[in-house]
Amino acid sequence: MGGVIFMAGIYIHIPFCKKACHYCDFHFSTNTALKAQMVDAILKEIELQKNYARNEPIETIYFGGGTPSLLEQRELFRLLNAVAKNHAIISHPEITLEANPDDICLNKLHQWRQAGINRLSIGIQSFFQEHLQWMNRAHSSIQAFNAITQSQDAGFNNITIDLIYGFPALSDEQWQKNLENAVKLDVKHISPYCLTVEEKTALHHFVKKGQVAAPSEEQGAKQFEYMTDYLIQNGFEHYEISNFAKSGFLSKHNSNYWKGKSYIGHGPSAHSFNGNSRQWNIKNNAEYIRRINTSNDWYEKEELSAETRYNEYVMTSLRTQWGCDLIYIKNKYGNNLYEYLLMQAKPYFQSEKLIYENEILKLSSSGKLLADKIASDLFWI
Ligand code: SF4
Repeated sequence: MGGVIFMAGIYIHIPFCKKACHYCDFHFSTNTALKAQMVDAILKEIELQKNYARNEPIETIYFGGGTPSLLEQRELFRLLNAVAKNHAIISHPEITLEANPDDICLNKLHQWRQAGINRLSIGIQSFFQEHLQWMNRAHSSIQAFNAITQSQDAGFNNITIDLIYGFPALSDEQWQKNLENAVKLDVKHISPYCLTVEEKTALHHFVKKGQVAAPSEEQGAKQFEYMTDYLIQNGFEHYEISNFAKSGFLSKHNSNYWKGKSYIGHGPSAHSFNGNSRQWNIKNNAEYIRRINTSNDWYEKEELSAETRYNEYVMTSLRTQWGCDLIYIKNKYGNNLYEYLLMQAKPYFQSEKLIYENEILKLSSSGKLLADKIASDLFWI
């Protein structure tokens, strides 16, 4: 008898970086003294959490951070072996490693291929030296170019790069050049992010002191519009607000997040979701290691109410090219929420920010610039 087979993803957070980028508010430490103990703790967590996603087969594994390219091959093998020991894995899983350009060399690339990594996410951010310095990145412009060509030479075809736009030091011409470089280098996937000034970052401090100009929304919107047209013209699918891919190169791991599939997150600050609950690990390296080894309380957990799940579905689905499925809403959450959603969406039909066709709700081009605001107006509060 055939049936739906649910599949899950695994995320492993490696919380160490060589340098602190000025804009970054992810969880990481530049002190790597605890790296070996951290790997041991994550190995233990993989075992402790093996039943979290109801033994669903693992379709994707994602090493994020922080900087997972700081792992030694031995550490990578141990982590992947632990996943294989504790889970059923499908026959061709997508295995992504986030890598910084300054860590990429032929030796490491071969090690990663041997370990089974088949997708690289390279933190380019910009191809201009002055921007990399402004951001306090650990790599140079030359390393940014070389990282991509060397990875391709070593046999990595499935490469995604991160780029940042909407910051004062980036002129429109430089943004066009960054996109042009990505296209010329034949990367298959691009995740461009509009710079935001997050609290407790060095950038926040500089902006507050008036040492750096705050990013302008207008500049961000203009560069977003240029990018969208340019990348679509060059054969990319705009499949999520911050993600563009050539055909066949959509990120399975991230697409599964947006489709509401389960995932298990390991390492400090990692989140997990299994349809009914969400949990997030403590954001402190030493404390995470201590608690994993001595207790059961290294994470906080929230059981998700129907309203929260509805809000999350609306927020994530609207950001994708597949849109928000109103039949799904009706079947899963009932007629009241279905009617409520249509009522809340109505002003946006009139302003042409939302498109409603065949019971699917999608953002129009101008609506994409207001994605968060529109989603929050559709939330059930
Ligand atoms: S390398 Fe990545 S995670 Fe580390 S500080 Fe820079 S942006 Fe943040």
